[in-house]
Amino acid sequence: VWNNCLNIIKDIVEWQHYKTWFEPITPVLLKSNVLTIQVPSQFFYEYIEEHYVNLLAKTLKRELGKDARLEYRIMVDSGNGKNLPLMMDVPGQGYKSYSNNEMDFPLVINNPVKNPFVIPGLKKMQIDPQLNPVYVFDAFIEGDCNRVARRAGKTVAEKPGSTSFNPLVIYGGVGLGKTHLAQAIGNEVKRLNNNKVVLYVSSEKFINQFVDHSRNNAINDFIHFYQLIDVLIIDDVQFFNRAEKSQDAFFAIFNHLHQSGKQLILTSDKPPKDLEGVQERLLSRFRWGLSADLQIPDYDTKIEILERKMKNDGLDMPKEVVKYIAYNIQNNIRELEGALISLLAQSSLNKREIDLELAKKVLRNFIKSSSKEITIDTIQKMVCDYFDVPYEKLLQKTRKREIVQARQISMFLAKAFTKNSLKTIGEHFGGRDHTTVIHSCQTVKDLMDTDTLFKESVIELQQKVQLAAM
Ligand code: ADP
Ligand code: MG
Repeated sequence: VWNNCLNIIKDIVEWQHYKTWFEPITPVLLKSNVLTIQVPSQFFYEYIEEHYVNLLAKTLKRELGKDARLEYRIMVDSGNGKNLPLMMDVPGQGYKSYSNNEMDFPLVINNPVKNPFVIPGLKKMQIDPQLNPVYVFDAFIEGDCNRVARRAGKTVAEKPGSTSFNPLVIYGGVGLGKTHLAQAIGNEVKRLNNNKVVLYVSSEKFINQFVDHSRNNAINDFIHFYQLIDVLIIDDVQFFNRAEKSQDAFFAIFNHLHQSGKQLILTSDKPPKDLEGVQERLLSRFRWGLSADLQIPDYDTKIEILERKMKNDGLDMPKEVVKYIAYNIQNNIRELEGALISLLAQSSLNKREIDLELAKKVLRNFIKSSSKEITIDTIQKMVCDYFDVPYEKLLQKTRKREIVQARQISMFLAKAFTKNSLKTIGEHFGGRDHTTVIHSCQTVKDLMDTDTLFKESVIELQQKVQLAAM
């Protein structure tokens, strides 16, 4: 009877699904109109109920008549390779939770079924995706520091599993937005298609779940569960470091998902090639897709992030304060937010408007080198950044106009903002003498009188140096 059913099913179900879900089933008992089949796990049972109940009902009714009934026997892996029956006749017992142990597994199944042939239509399995709704693309400001990663993320969210960005690996230092971006992808997938099964999990949680399941001899359940997901996001994979068994499970899950065209998104605090303690076979798979990095935020992006946060919270503060924060918070975006929050807190505690003075006081704790001495090097780098010219050129003899101008402005600013002698300044520019420095400063002053564009540039640079010095 069962073989007849299988022959029909084989033609209807995709081969891969047939292999996964039907081959492991064994028929164990046929008693008049009731067929009992044995399935490898509770999870299997639920999956079959979920997806194939109508198909099974139809085929079985053809074989056994319209009163046909199906019962399940569920096996657990006893750990020594021998299967033991866990419970019998599940449909009579109604719904049993997926996992018998006290795991916080985010699996929720709606509409528990009493009798597989009674419930009409398809019930929808739902997994809580574990996403923070705050982390969306709209709130993730695009800038030079994150453009590639953000756009790749957007593409993946629109076509999960069907781009070459699989897996998408987002890497970067602490507080640069990895979690935010990875979750934004998940949230966007859900927004565009709520039927997609999305799951966000940190690698630590993944490992803990794995350990609990292996203690309970339920590794197969664990793997089967993860194989159901359409978009799997694993955060901070560097913590897989040395968790060998968890990596084995992840490897199996990765392969299954990748082969079935499901999307994987991973984050890491370093580029995949530098991940220590992660199996080479996993690393080689990480390279199949796209690795995109998040860099330390540039000034403009910091300004925009601050302005967005203020707008969202309905706050206002002088532009110079915003600039001051953006200039002085160097390391990451979490710190940037921290500085803003401290400032707001101080302002409301002291019932005092936010101004530059308060900002300096509050941010002192955030700024590493608090008493900042502006050096010639700093100025040179700022000017080079600003005009986008290579630093070495300042020191050489290049006579190209933009280089000459950058060199002259650097000297001018160095004279204005540092206590160095003209001689020292000249030495910092490839050993020029002090008369060259004097001449440069004069040229800058003259040009500022005649060329408004030039003047604006110099003023802007002056402001930048001033802020950096505070
Ligand atoms: P990571 O996971 O890399 O340590 P997070 O994703 O936790 O960093 O980001 C730290 C904070 O910075 C979060 O509050 C996040 O919302 C914010 N953030 C990061 N990047 C951006 C961005 N481009 N635009 C706005 N906020 C950002
Ligand atoms: Mg994170």
